[in-house]
Amino acid sequence: MTHAHPLAGRVCLITGASSGIGAHLARRMARAGAQVVLGARRTELTGTIAEDINSAGGKALAVALDVTSESSIAEAFASAESRFGPVDTVVANAGVVRNGRSTDAPEADLRQVYDTNLLGVHLTANAAARAMMAAGSRESEAGRIVIIGSITAQMTGQGDAAYAASKEGVAHLGRQLAREWVRQGINVNTVQPGYIRTELVGDWFDSDGGKAQIAGWHRRRLMEIDALDDLVLFLCSDASAHVTGGTFTVDDGQSL
Ligand code: NDP
Repeated sequence: MTHAHPLAGRVCLITGASSGIGAHLARRMARAGAQVVLGARRTELTGTIAEDINSAGGKALAVALDVTSESSIAEAFASAESRFGPVDTVVANAGVVRNGRSTDAPEADLRQVYDTNLLGVHLTANAAARAMMAAGSRESEAGRIVIIGSITAQMTGQGDAAYAASKEGVAHLGRQLAREWVRQGINVNTVQPGYIRTELVGDWFDSDGGKAQIAGWHRRRLMEIDALDDLVLFLCSDASAHVTGGTFTVDDGQSL
């Protein structure tokens, strides 16, 4: 990325911004010039990150957000708009995992995974598209929606059936929505990361099983938290005007 502030003027709402990849991207996107809105349930965490960004000269707002609730999403978009103007960029990043054998999985766990990772992304994208279409007369061809999927969509694994299915689901959802909104100038793309150490993976990679998994990868390493930065910044910027309906793998070759 050659331009120092590729997201200048953009209003970016990031879901799941209280930890891990979402929190990191919020800080990174603010440094790239965006006005960032950090959405998550744990507002004590997003509030602190927003304060950090603002005291470093950026522009950030923390909003309470539960992506499984359409009314919560609508309130978050309304708060974002009243502070910064219409949201034109969304990173649908919120996600959860529940590991275990399918036949042992409580219904509540399955619902939480699908509701957050699949329905939550769809409800978020719908709210984003509505906001972008309403603002369309002012700013055409500027809408950007980036979905954070997972390489588990491309593989079969042990004990993460619902998670992997939800991630395959959002990749196809992204293509469908890209087609649905292509004439409105809204680009929808999906990023499929490999493994990065965050709360989501917990201490798995410190265990013998986790260490063996890393040893089996070609590059024998986990990715760092900044692995997605340049691709996500590109997909959120004006530079990606012609890129929509794409699915992009960033996994250090883990899935090869
Ligand atoms: P974290 O567990 O660190 O972060 C997950 C985020 O999702 C938290 O901020 C959490 O916030 C938020 N979240 C969960 N449920 C909801 C909800 N109902 N409403 C709003 N926010 C919610 O995980 P990662 O940073 O690792 O994961 C981010 C994304 O990246 C996920 O979609 C994950 O599937 C994906 N991913 C991660 C990989 C990895 O190796 N880490 C690999 C591939 C994909 P709060 O609890 O405050 O609401």
